[in-house]
Order: sequence, then C-alpha cells, then structure tokens
Amino acid sequence: MSPTYDVAVLGLGAMGSAAAWQLARRGARVLGIDRHAPPHEFGSTHGDTRVTRIACGEGPEYSAFVRRSHEIWRALEAELGVELLTQNGMLVISGKGERALSHGIDAFLAATVDAARQAGVEYTLLDTAAMRARFPAFRFSDGDEGYLDRVSGFVRPELCIEVQLRRARELGAELHVNETVTSFRQKDGLVSVTTDKGTYQAKQLIVSAGPWLPQLLEPELARTFKITRQVLYWFRARDAAAHARFSPDRFPVYIWQVPAPQVIYGFPATGGIDEGVKIASEQYELETTPETVDRTASKQEIREMYETYVGPFLPGLSPVCIKSKICLYTWVDGARFIIDRHPEHDRIIIASPCSGHGFKHSAGIGELLAQMALGETHRDISMFRFDTRIRA
Ligand SMILES: Cc1cc2nc3c(=O)[nH]c(=O)nc-3n(C[C@H](O)[C@H](O)[C@H](O)COP(=O)(O)OP(=O)(O)OC[C@H]3O[C@@H](n4cnc5c(N)ncnc54)[C@H](O)[C@@H]3O)c2cc1C
Repeated sequence: MSPTYDVAVLGLGAMGSAAAWQLARRGARVLGIDRHAPPHEFGSTHGDTRVTRIACGEGPEYSAFVRRSHEIWRALEAELGVELLTQNGMLVISGKGERALSHGIDAFLAATVDAARQAGVEYTLLDTAAMRARFPAFRFSDGDEGYLDRVSGFVRPELCIEVQLRRARELGAELHVNETVTSFRQKDGLVSVTTDKGTYQAKQLIVSAGPWLPQLLEPELARTFKITRQVLYWFRARDAAAHARFSPDRFPVYIWQVPAPQVIYGFPATGGIDEGVKIASEQYELETTPETVDRTASKQEIREMYETYVGPFLPGLSPVCIKSKICLYTWVDGARFIIDRHPEHDRIIIASPCSGHGFKHSAGIGELLAQMALGETHRDISMFRFDTRIRA
C-alpha cells in the first residue's frame, strides 16, 4: 500500500506548480504528477511572456488574485534572485466603428477603466495625438483612444513554473514527471489516483490539468470547457532603430481592439533584434484537443497574421517571422474561470483558471488551492463555480 498524501496535485503547469509549492511550504505531504516535465510546450503555459494587469476588463473580481500574485512573485524574486515580473505599463486601445472583441467583451476599454477604478489603480486616458506622441511604434487611426497604467506589464511563465517546482521539491513535495494520470475516484474518505505507473491515495486531490481537463471529467462537466488553438508569433523589427522602439522602457504591453475580426495583444522586445517581437491574436472558432492540435503555424497563417494584424498596426515590424508557437486556451463562456469542488466528490478540487487570461492570477490561485485543500479560510470564489444546472 502506497503512503497516503495530504494532497495530490494532478498537473504541474501554471496552477499546479503554484499549488504544489504553496502546499509544501505549509508542511503538507504533497504528491505532484505530470504527464510531461514542466515547463513544457504542450499545454497553455509557454511562449516566454504573459500579460499581467490588475485592472481586468474581464471583471473586477479578478483583481485580488493578480495583486496577490504580484506580491508572491516579488517575494520569490527577492528570495531566489530571479526576474519574474516586469511592470512596464499597459495600453488598452480601442476606437471608432466596429472593433474586435477582447475575451468576448465588446467595451473592453471601458470595462478596464471600471476595473481600474474599483481596484484603485491609477491610470490615464489618452487621445490619438497623445498616443502618437508617446508611442511611435504603433500606427493609430484617427479617433483611437487608450487606457494607460503603469502597474501592468509581463511575467515569465516558464520561469515561474520552474522556480515554484524547485521550491516545492526543496520543501519535501514528491513530484513525479512523465507520469500520466489515467483515472481518479473518491471512496471511503480518500481519493485514489491511478497513473500509468501506479496507484496513490490522498486526502484531497487538485485537478489542474489545463487543456487536458475535459478528458478527465464526466461529459456533463467536460461540456463547460472548449479547447481552442492559439498561435503566438515573433516578428523581426525592420532595423535596429525600429527594434529600439520596442524596448520595455519605451513600449508597454498592449491589448488592441483593432478594426479587424480578432483582437491583437503583444509585448515589448525581451531580447535582441534576432529574437523578434511577440504579437498574437485570438480565435474561438477552431476547437481542438492537446492530442490532435496542429502544432505548426502554416505559411499562410503567418502571412495572414502579418498582412491583417502586424503590418497595418506596427509598421516597424517586418514580415520576417522568426518563430511561432501553438498554445491552447481552455475557454469557459464569459471568459470565466472554474475553481470549484467536484459537484459529486467533495475531496476533489477542479481548477481551470484559463479562458486566455489566467496566468497573471496563478500564484494567487495556487495559494487559494492550497488553502481550499487544507481547509484554511480563503477568499470567496462562488463566482467560479460550475454552472448550478450541472449540479442539479
Ligand atoms: C496563447 C496563450 C496566451 C495567453 N496569454 C495570457 C496572458 O497574456 N496573460 C494571462 O494572464 N494569461 C494568459 N494565458 C492564459 C494562461 O496561460 C493560462 O491560464 C494558464 O497557463 C493555465 O495554466 P494551467 O495550469 O491550467 O494549464 P497548464 O499550464 O497547461 O498545465 C496543465 C498540466 O497538466 C498536465 N496534465 C494534463 N493531463 C494530465 C494527466 N492525465 N496526468 C498528468 N498530468 C497531466 C500537463 O502536462 C500540464 O503540465 C494565455 C494562454 C495561451 C494559450
């Protein structure tokens, strides 16, 4: 009979690595299992950078998690001498006429302003002339307007996972990588987790399986989630002078509701000219699975991305795509997160904070998951429940 763990964590990506570390630092006996060896490029947490913003247009209820995440990352940086978070500011841009939705939200700029007010974030509203004067790397249209704050920026997802797993291990967590969970079930006050290598018992189970989650759930719960293919691109600047205009001290992260079908967002350059400048759009139509997804961006996709979304708005970038990566969203209607106990098994916690905006909250959510699993007091998360109709 294998030992009984306090908590087993299924999936050690953004959320699972944060939870495993938070559990280990509380002295819990932790078992973490991952089918790959995180950080890796098969799920939702790769591609060098993630936008972080305290004013979340998706809803003011998210601000507390990102704020707590910033505190946790700053403490980790001080402890380990690593650089996880860069707060170089964010510009949210919209304008006249029909604009692309951001995470399904039409008035994303107004929603961001509202969230900033509620969270007490200082911000400035800029008209087109002010944006042109301050940010020459963008090509704005007459009538474009912007929201700018200085507390947003970007965070390094792979490094966050790496250091959280390292700290978890140092604090005694048992982490099994390249081991796949095939099933789990709750019986007699314990959860048993079966993998391709063995069976383990734990008092609580956190399921943080990212885009693999629907495969592990009953069909009526799996239906809540939609897995979509997303492409990240790195385009080369036209020359050294253009590249310099993308440096983090001159160029913020941005979310731009452009007059085209899809929103665009992007980052400053985090390396030299040959490392490119990262930009992406979002699509919600093409559903997929981690097993069947096409993991290569086609030449046509790259050309269309440049012609529709890069060249017209960021003229300093050339059509040379240095690299691209495929990543997966686990989408819930309303850009919602699901963080809830399994409707029928109270010792199993399901954590799917994605919908394309989860990473910035991951350190805070890891802490929350540890609190839930260990029966500690925690923040109200009733808004992240499975749809009540599923429970009935
Ligand atoms: C293209 C893209 C851009 C994004 N941009 C942003 C952004 O700018 N800002 C932001 O805040 N968020 C962003 N997000 C969202 C954010 O990255 C996700 O919310 C977050 O990465 C989700 O983490 P996760 O832990 O749920 O999943 P993952 O990190 O994918 O982890 C799931 C883990 O579970 C493991 N696993 C799965 N099944 C099994 C099994 N059966 N047995 C064992 N292990 C298993 C996997 O191997 C994996 O390691 C973006 C996401 C994508 C895809």
